[in-house]
Amino acid sequence: MTVIEKLTRASHLIDMDDIIREGNPTLRQVAEEVELPLTDQDIILGEKMMQFLKHSQDPVMAEKLGLRGGVGIAAPQLDISKRIIACLVPNPEDEEGNPPAQAYSLEAIMYNPKIVAHSIQEAALANGEGCLSVDREVEGYVVRNSRVTVEYIDKNGDKQRLKLKSYNAIVVQHEIDHINGIMFYDRINQDNPFAVKEGMLLIE
Ligand SMILES: [Zn+2]
Repeated sequence: MTVIEKLTRASHLIDMDDIIREGNPTLRQVAEEVELPLTDQDIILGEKMMQFLKHSQDPVMAEKLGLRGGVGIAAPQLDISKRIIACLVPNPEDEEGNPPAQAYSLEAIMYNPKIVAHSIQEAALANGEGCLSVDREVEGYVVRNSRVTVEYIDKNGDKQRLKLKSYNAIVVQHEIDHINGIMFYDRINQDNPFAVKEGMLLIE
C-alpha cells in the first residue's frame, strides 16, 4: 500500500506517526503540482488533512490521538510530495469566554496554492513559529510578508483568490513554504535571530 492509499482509507485518522520530521528529504523537495481535474484520492487527502487540524484543536480528540495542536499542514509533511495544504485558524473567544460568531478566520484546503502578490512590508510572529515536523523550539523572528494574495484550486475544482493579512498570512506562507522545500527556520536571521528590520510588523 502506498502512503496516500493508507492515509485516505475511510477508517484512517491522521496522527503524529504519519507526520515526517526534519531530516527527512521529502521536506526539502519542491512538491509536484496536483493534476486537474482533482482525483477523488487527492480530494479525500485534503479532507483528511483538515480533519487532522480539527482533531488537533479539539482537546478530547487531541488527547485521545496524542496530537500536537496545529493551524496548518502541508502534504509533504505526510511524505506526499504534492502541492496540497490545509489551514485552520480559529477565532478567539470574546472577553466573557463566549464562542466567536464565526469559528474560524481561515478554513481552507488549497490545491496548487500560489502567492500572486504580497506587501513590501514584512512581518513576524512575536513568539516565533513552530512546526509539526520540528520537535524542538527554534527561537527567532521568521521574517515573512505582512500581507499576501493567494490563488488556489478548491476541492470543487474552482479557482479561488484570497487576500490575507496578519496571522492568517503567516500561516499560509508557512504552509506554502513546505511545498517548496523551505523550513520556517530558513527565514530566521542566523546572526541575529531577533533582528527587527525597519518597518517590520511584530504580530502578537
Ligand atoms: Zn510546518
